[in-house]
Amino acid sequence: MNKSLRITVKGIVQGVGFRPYIYRLANNFSLCGCVYNTSSGVVIEVEGDENGVLGFIKSFPASVPPLAKIDNIEIESCSLEKRTQFEIIDSLPEKGRFVSISPDMGICRDCLSEMLSPSDRRYRYPFINCVNCGPRFTIIQDIPYDRDKTTMRKFRMCPICRKEYESPSNRRYHAQPNACHKCGPSVCLLDNDDSEIESIDPIQQASNLLQQSNIIAIKGIGGFHLACDATNDMVVQELRKRKGREEDKPFAIMSFDLATVKKYCKVNDEAERLLTAPSKPIVLLEKMPNCSISTYVAPNNNYLGVMLPYTPLHYLLLLSLKPEIPALVMTSGNFSDEPLTKDNDEAIKRLGKIADYFLMHNRDIHSRCDDSLTSVINSKKTIIRRSRGYAPLPIVLKLSVGQILAVGAEFKNTFCLTRDNYAFCSQHIGDLKNYETLKYFKESIERFKRLFRIEPEIIAHDLHPDYLSTKFAQESSYPLFPIQHHHAHIASCMAENGVDEKVIGVAMDGTGYGTDGNVWGCEFLLTDYSGFERAGHLKYLPLPGGDKATEEPYRMAISYLYSVFGEAIPSRFLKRWGDEKTLFIIKMLKQGLNSPLTSSAGRLFDAIASILGLRDKVNYEAQSAIELEMIADEHEKSGYGFEIYGEGDTLIINPTKTIFDIVGDMDSGVHLSVISARFHNTVLGWTLEICRRMRDKTGINKVALSGGVFQNHYLSERINPHLEEEGFMVISHAEVPTNDGGISLGQAVIAGNRVISK
Ligand code: ZN
Ligand code: ZN
Ligand code: FE
Repeated sequence: MNKSLRITVKGIVQGVGFRPYIYRLANNFSLCGCVYNTSSGVVIEVEGDENGVLGFIKSFPASVPPLAKIDNIEIESCSLEKRTQFEIIDSLPEKGRFVSISPDMGICRDCLSEMLSPSDRRYRYPFINCVNCGPRFTIIQDIPYDRDKTTMRKFRMCPICRKEYESPSNRRYHAQPNACHKCGPSVCLLDNDDSEIESIDPIQQASNLLQQSNIIAIKGIGGFHLACDATNDMVVQELRKRKGREEDKPFAIMSFDLATVKKYCKVNDEAERLLTAPSKPIVLLEKMPNCSISTYVAPNNNYLGVMLPYTPLHYLLLLSLKPEIPALVMTSGNFSDEPLTKDNDEAIKRLGKIADYFLMHNRDIHSRCDDSLTSVINSKKTIIRRSRGYAPLPIVLKLSVGQILAVGAEFKNTFCLTRDNYAFCSQHIGDLKNYETLKYFKESIERFKRLFRIEPEIIAHDLHPDYLSTKFAQESSYPLFPIQHHHAHIASCMAENGVDEKVIGVAMDGTGYGTDGNVWGCEFLLTDYSGFERAGHLKYLPLPGGDKATEEPYRMAISYLYSVFGEAIPSRFLKRWGDEKTLFIIKMLKQGLNSPLTSSAGRLFDAIASILGLRDKVNYEAQSAIELEMIADEHEKSGYGFEIYGEGDTLIINPTKTIFDIVGDMDSGVHLSVISARFHNTVLGWTLEICRRMRDKTGINKVALSGGVFQNHYLSERINPHLEEEGFMVISHAEVPTNDGGISLGQAVIAGNRVISK
């Protein structure tokens, strides 16, 4: 008997070779019918012998192409049309429907071997790609995903490319960026006066110039990189100087292959999996003692951010480096805090003073996308910056939340748009504190709304009145949902873990606006999506100078010392900071001048780093906390004293004894690495203690950890196992950042939950 079915598939099914896969499979089962893209996924119609149809249904989800991801399959029967063949038909646009869009993917093994084979027609072609690899998100202007809706529209395929594109059995069937030497994009080399440098092989020449200590701006997938020899102290320092401001902010580096990376960094199994995954993120790896990479790449840091080449162009560039240069610096092509540069003219204008040369190409980038940054903690992946290779993949929520725009926080901003049970978190936008970044933020929101067909009903934003994201929300005409920062952190962790019951939320970070107007940052919340109760926090102390104290940790050090010793601050500190400066801060503290109260964990880390003499002024966010972590002695087990007392129903952590003990250890000449470890163990100690007390009181056993502090390896690699040893169920971040890059997801689910429950 003959049977006919219509199958609707949702998920990442466009631009990933899904239709040719279905075509081949249907032919294997001798079925007739068709397959086509719609604005919401792929529709398959099959008819034929009943056994064949059932066999097809059973086998098609099992071996989908590598980049495809099925979220949902709907099957309905339909009338027999007595078709005589199986065909792939043109896309059908439908109003209001949406489809998931694939992120950009690193070059696949097949394309790489073709590119390196002298007999292949794409030998050394820097834009080789196929349905399993290449640019997607950064070149798509609208859906359905077809060539004329991408920045590849301007390149007309040559007859051979067109043939590949049209034959369902070919790996390049409907590979939208398909191209070759003859018909596709090409590279050129320019100097910083915008004049082209004649060359038969611009990539080879760029590689030579890099080896001769030049700085080159290189156009990639989601924007420009600034590249130089990573082993050359002089040129790395020169690049820092020209980039401005970010004096010691770590640069990412790129090596040709895994074997090369293993020569200078430790690579465990999970790190190896991340480095080689198609998303090709930067992975934080521990340096080896004999590391040949310049110390100026990541000063005072035991880790290096390393990635493998992800475009064919990167491969060609790194292929011809001499063995003495195992890596190139590949840092974001921007000036100071501005967004990544993506257009050619803009690059010459904005990067002309930084780069000596430009390696450009003429495939336009429609949307910028920074490199993603990951790290391995407790043998698991964590994402510190979720961008290229991950965005715009949605986070699948347990519940449908309606259409919401969550605008995120101020630093490391991302926004999030939801519809149905999908949360589309944006690529990394950056710190929303200048016009360029704000513009990028606004443009990206419009683009996401268009790509995913979302018209938000409400906007969720942070409570902080001065965040530009808050102001953006307030200027809109939508109903607003203000959400407390740390509540959003915990909700974000819950959402990505599919948890919706009440949890013990531990949120530790630098800054978040509290419901009492104070600066929160070490918070123990009894919480679910509907609200929270602040069960505990670090004792409030004044933050002398407000935001200025974030840049100058010695201010917070004085605040802590003053709280312990009063005006009798030990003379060693007065000497270090100077009487005048110290007395000025003490005066501010005494008079409460521009000194908001804070319970921030980040500021406590700052204070300790400054007390130990590590750092009195920071050049990038969290620098002092990172440097404090870097010196911590792995083997030290003890911690310092602290007190927990009740203030009404709230538990307050008082670290007076901690500070006192630290100064005592300094007086007795205990090594700084031991003091740092003991301090970290103290934070671990009070976290465990408050969690125990909250569990005793409420019977709740699930702990959610969130906030930038959990990027700290030393702390996270101890807190999770210790809590688990005591029987807690611990959830932490893996898919979205634990830092403020994860805030937008939390805002979206909290707001969505309130809308549903109304
Ligand atoms: Zn490929
Ligand atoms: Zn061609
Ligand atoms: Fe935060």
